Amino acid sequence: MAASDLVNLSGLLDDAKCFALVRRHRWPEGARCPVCDSGAVIRDGHDGTQPCRQRYRCKACAGRFDDLTGTVLAGHHQPLRVWVLCLPFMGLNLSNRQIALELGLDASDVQAMTEQLRRGLVAKTPAVELTGGVEIDEVYVVAGHKGQLAAVAKLAGSGAGAGWQARRAAARWRRTNRPSSA
Ligand SMILES: [Zn+2]
Repeated sequence: MAASDLVNLSGLLDDAKCFALVRRHRWPEGARCPVCDSGAVIRDGHDGTQPCRQRYRCKACAGRFDDLTGTVLAGHHQPLRVWVLCLPFMGLNLSNRQIALELGLDASDVQAMTEQLRRGLVAKTPAVELTGGVEIDEVYVVAGHKGQLAAVAKLAGSGAGAGWQARRAAARWRRTNRPSSA
């Protein structure tokens, strides 16, 4: 029996928190215009069908955009919370088929989603320039791989090492979504 028969996971996630998560990742220092990169933007109401999706207007170029404009999450029929739920499942190395079962989706839909998520949550942000102190993300060592460098290198060459980006995305997601201890 699929877990989705027991618990509708995506129904437990809060839309407002999912949009807040995207905003935090995309604009850690406040919303910026995706067209001219100005920080002089004002909130401009909410999406007509997704009330938690904030709209903005740029005071510099008069452009209009919202939380998802220019990201892989824009223009898809799946609700944002379904995308967000994909991340921890990808981090657990579940197959597209398993994720589809858990979320009650078509495997082909899930494949399209995970491919896009692996390319990056926010595909069109400008390249990051590293300056000063740089924090490196966690390194994952699969238990059975410890001390088996040669075998792992061979695996990596065959493409079996793919998926590290998904694990990194999930780790980042976990870091920013730790349950409050308060
Ligand atoms: Zn602008």
